[in-house]
Amino acid sequence: MNPEKKIKLAVWKLTSCDGCQLQLINAEDRFLSIAGVVEFARFPEGFRNVARGRYDISLVEGSVTTPRDARLVQQIRRQSRVVVAMGACATSGGIQALRNFSDAGKWMRMIYPSPGTIDILKKSTALSDHIHVDHELRGCPINPDQLIELIAACRQGRKPNLPTHSLCQECKRMGYICVTVASGVPCMGPVTQAGCGAICPAVGRGCYGCFGPCDTANTRALHEVWQRQLEVPVDDIRRAFRGITAWATPFRRESERR
Ligand code: SF4
Ligand code: SF4
Repeated sequence: MNPEKKIKLAVWKLTSCDGCQLQLINAEDRFLSIAGVVEFARFPEGFRNVARGRYDISLVEGSVTTPRDARLVQQIRRQSRVVVAMGACATSGGIQALRNFSDAGKWMRMIYPSPGTIDILKKSTALSDHIHVDHELRGCPINPDQLIELIAACRQGRKPNLPTHSLCQECKRMGYICVTVASGVPCMGPVTQAGCGAICPAVGRGCYGCFGPCDTANTRALHEVWQRQLEVPVDDIRRAFRGITAWATPFRRESERR
């Protein structure tokens, strides 16, 4: 990107809860550090004015769940130099992808008085199932520090420093006591991607995998340790993999294993 010009940033929403966009607003103090190099050209949740594309970076929140989402992602790709999938919804399908395991029509008929007015695709899926994605920011919600690092890297023309290894390494580096070894707490850290700052183990609770699978996720081994050593019922293990990032392939396969 031209270092003489401000980065033209666009923020888009597909099917999502807006939590990742709120992280941008919550991180305004950290955005001050890059305020001079970024122009929020399109961020309807934060600013009234919308500048037309083409955009240098598009941050996309949400999963592709409706026909409108499917059309919009194609438009975003055409209008953007760099596309970033932002958060668990955009990178794995998110919590709404739980319906992929079931008959969504049946649930809609049970819950809504007029299910015929709801227009959804057969599955709720990640952005990368539809278009080329340049970078992913994991988490539910994202870690704003990772977003700042990503924008800085794009500006400097380098690869962003976004870890793909497991959360266990993050815990070790920060000196946290392992909740599984010390207290027998089931923790998905060994199969989950680092980047959140290990905020759940820091307070003594197990990770539930909101950053999705790490690059070496041995889900089978974790399943066996939970079952044999921690005596976690198999149904609970399946439910643990079937959480916020259930449609990410390693977690989906483990939750479907018989
Ligand atoms: S990843 Fe989580 S916080 Fe972000 S939009 Fe999806 S549900 Fe909300
Ligand atoms: S410890 Fe796990 S569940 Fe908690 S924020 Fe980090 S990745 Fe998400």
